[in-house]
Amino acid sequence: MQITILVGEKPDYQMKPGEAYKVKWHIENSDQTKDILVVCCYKCGKTGWTMEHDHQWHDDGTVTINPSMLCPHCNAHYFVRASQIVE
Ligand SMILES: [Zn+2]
Repeated sequence: MQITILVGEKPDYQMKPGEAYKVKWHIENSDQTKDILVVCCYKCGKTGWTMEHDHQWHDDGTVTINPSMLCPHCNAHYFVRASQIVE
């Protein structure tokens, strides 16, 4: 299973489970932004943000996220490695 990264200007809250939007996040107390994901949890379909995570964006458009993901809604716990969901 993998996360599908969608392209668009704004997060679409009708995302399907396992889909994510890449958005620019303004880092607090700085002029910098970083690319983060708005993720639709592949288990419960609810939305979470990854602004607290480190993102390694790969040339093929996939992403590796550290540390692991923990859904605040259903407690799904998983890793994202080159956009693959690893439990
Ligand atoms: Zn969930």
